[in-house]
Amino acid sequence: MKKNKILVIGSSGQIGTDLCLSLERIYGAENIICSDLNPPKEKNHRKNFIKLDVLDNEMLTKKVKEENISEIYLLAASLSALAEKNVLISWELNMNSLINVLELARKKIIKKIFWPSSIAVFGPDSPKLNTPQNTTLNPSSIYGITKLAGEKLCQYYYDKFDVDVRSLRLPGLIGWRSLAGGGTTDYAVEIFYHALKNNDYTCFLSKETILPMMYMDDAIEAILKIMTTKKENIKIRTSYNISAVSFTPKELEKQIKIYFPNFNVKFKPDYRQKIADSWPDSIDDQEAKVDWGWKAKFNLEKLTSEMFKNLSN
Ligand code: NAD
Repeated sequence: MKKNKILVIGSSGQIGTDLCLSLERIYGAENIICSDLNPPKEKNHRKNFIKLDVLDNEMLTKKVKEENISEIYLLAASLSALAEKNVLISWELNMNSLINVLELARKKIIKKIFWPSSIAVFGPDSPKLNTPQNTTLNPSSIYGITKLAGEKLCQYYYDKFDVDVRSLRLPGLIGWRSLAGGGTTDYAVEIFYHALKNNDYTCFLSKETILPMMYMDDAIEAILKIMTTKKENIKIRTSYNISAVSFTPKELEKQIKIYFPNFNVKFKPDYRQKIADSWPDSIDDQEAKVDWGWKAKFNLEKLTSEMFKNLSN
């Protein structure tokens, strides 16, 4: 009998680069198919890479059947800052990719899906501090609108067709294996590269903009944990709030200065400031803690030290 495999769609991006390595380590590289429009940056990372457009439904279905895929991690999307510049293309990618994958599960071709939502589902009228799981959701960015619609689709496919789709409202992610892919929190990754290469950085958000953030290792652990939790323990079928740390660009600069005392940050807010201002300062992730034992490990000090340790290597 052919072994069931996992397909990662959008594997060459910020999360995919880290997630594929972890999945390969856990399940064996021969059981992980990585796919993207673009090849992986480090060739030795991806044993089974295929070029695949998630919007090409015919090819997607063919590959899923050929490879005997049972689980899909859908990471292909247009992120918040990029989406504001290409509204229709982003709507098409963010929505149709999800519908294509949900349909594969409705038709029982695959068994399980991971799809990330975002803190962008919250809007200017959501509570800013410790934003609860269930609250006002009026996103003002097109990215947030696609994520909210996506959450509702996930709930609908679960209720109506028993599709096992699991989701997290991810905050801004900080990792060292790849650059960020066009989001509003990208500054928190770029700044580390600039600290190592130059003595200065111009930040596109104001120094006091506080946002929820997370070190990549925590995010990967959360994804792996929610995907291996017993089905009956997944009580939320829109998307779970998860949280790790919240900080401002100024606080991150201060932390970086412990390593590079002469590092200097200028603040020149651009169109991304408005998106950031519409998002929460911090997130309440009580439900994720209770339902499947979520707990973040990295605070600002620890993630800064990990970033420099790994980037200088
Ligand atoms: P990314 O932009 O770094 O990577 C996305 C990947 O998808 C890219 O490699 C791109 O080439 C690929 N892609 C684009 N169109 C495609 C298509 N038609 N077919 C196949 N592949 C295609 O994004 P990321 O940061 O890795 O984010 C992954 C998911 O997590 C997204 O849904 C994003 O909204 C969500 N998320 C990310 C963050 C974050 O901070 N990185 C935060 C919250 C939510």
